[in-house]
Amino acid sequence: MSFTDRDRAVRAAVAQGLVGAGEPVAGLLDVAGIRRAARELRAAFAEFTAPGTPVLHAFAVKAASLVPVLRLLAQEGLGCEVASPGELALARAAGVPAARTVLDSPAKTTAELREALALGIAVNADNPEELARIDGLLAAAPGTAPIGLRVNPQIGGGSIGAMSTATDTSKFGVALRDEGARDWVVRAFLDRPWLTRLHAHVGSQGMPLALMATGVRSLYELAEEINDRAGRRQVDTLDIGGGLPVNFSSDTTAPTYREYVALLRSAVPGLLSGRYGLVTEFGRSLLAKHGTVLARVEYAKSAGGRPIAVTHAGAQVATRTVFVPEAWPLRVAAYDVEGRPKTGEPVAQDIAGPCCFAGDLVAENRPLPLLESGDHAALLDTGAYYFSTHFAYNSLPRPGIHGYAAAPDGTVRFATIRTPQTLEELTAESGGAHTEALRDLGNE
Ligand SMILES: *Cc1c(COP(=O)(O)O)cnc(C)c1O
Repeated sequence: MSFTDRDRAVRAAVAQGLVGAGEPVAGLLDVAGIRRAARELRAAFAEFTAPGTPVLHAFAVKAASLVPVLRLLAQEGLGCEVASPGELALARAAGVPAARTVLDSPAKTTAELREALALGIAVNADNPEELARIDGLLAAAPGTAPIGLRVNPQIGGGSIGAMSTATDTSKFGVALRDEGARDWVVRAFLDRPWLTRLHAHVGSQGMPLALMATGVRSLYELAEEINDRAGRRQVDTLDIGGGLPVNFSSDTTAPTYREYVALLRSAVPGLLSGRYGLVTEFGRSLLAKHGTVLARVEYAKSAGGRPIAVTHAGAQVATRTVFVPEAWPLRVAAYDVEGRPKTGEPVAQDIAGPCCFAGDLVAENRPLPLLESGDHAALLDTGAYYFSTHFAYNSLPRPGIHGYAAAPDGTVRFATIRTPQTLEELTAESGGAHTEALRDLGNE
């Protein structure tokens, strides 16, 4: 039997007690895999863009909002795309400089905008009202932060409605094909010499690559039109967003960054020619395949003839999979008590989580070697938007997260990324300092 680095990490995590009776669930991140993904991203753009083209790869922080991960990616030459004061705080804590940070939220407050402009962080305005706020802020305090406008090319959605950002009625950006919108955008640029960027994020999981390229092409064409009308290269940078889909059905990485950039080169030849600086905002594709949720099987039981493994990984760490299983299926791997890959005839079984609602299943009727109490279930490809995006249902604590590196001799080293949340922290987060707050209220 040949072992993957993930198998070795699972075995070592169980042997070292990172997952066990005391800590029944944890997230594991393959640090070498993350570095490899970051390098592949940079290499793909370096290969296809004209020499000297400025390219910033800003990691979408929401995909893995963990300071040491942002720091690791910064070490690999990436920046951060942030969409809230919290995400900006994480990026700053990771030491990511303002010049490598991009702010994109659809609901930025005036205070947030003021702070970003003062720090020199690139801001993509979402809508006309936000642009008017920025007008006011710049009139009061001119600055040098690069400012762009997000547009929605309205090229259609992908297979997952909630992930589709480029439908006719998507909530993001200025809807470019609405009546009068394109003229409004061009005029907005001509009236504002400091508006120098265009932004679109048309993808996310479930989006065909060709459609993503179509969205980028409309961004490029809009920039050319604005620059023609302005008679100068006013738009100097295109932010093409992220959204490369991830293969959740095997260990293969597909599509690759190289395939996407090659497609962009043929679909939008001018894009990579050096006419524009580029910003990307990939999230899921950098992290997903390098993360594993590892959970102990607390009980094995059966109902209506169906075996059920009751584990400690459910909606709190795999929220999307539990609530929308048809859009977010996950592979589950079975490991034994000691964390070795479990062998045996596949038996169709449910893999359940610890939450108190019936639908808390991460896999239904899944053929796997029969899981028994004390075994371990691993949810694969969960490095992005899973354990880093914990859901506080049933006051389940946020699990610990550990980075790992497996040496060729099979030994595994761990580094803690986030310690498991303690019950004291959880109580404090749940109003623990205000126990008596309601004693007299409404009781007169
Ligand atoms: C979520 C998001 C991203 C990252 O999307 P992925 O599918 O994780 O690559 C990039 N840009 C914006 C504006 C986003 O909202």
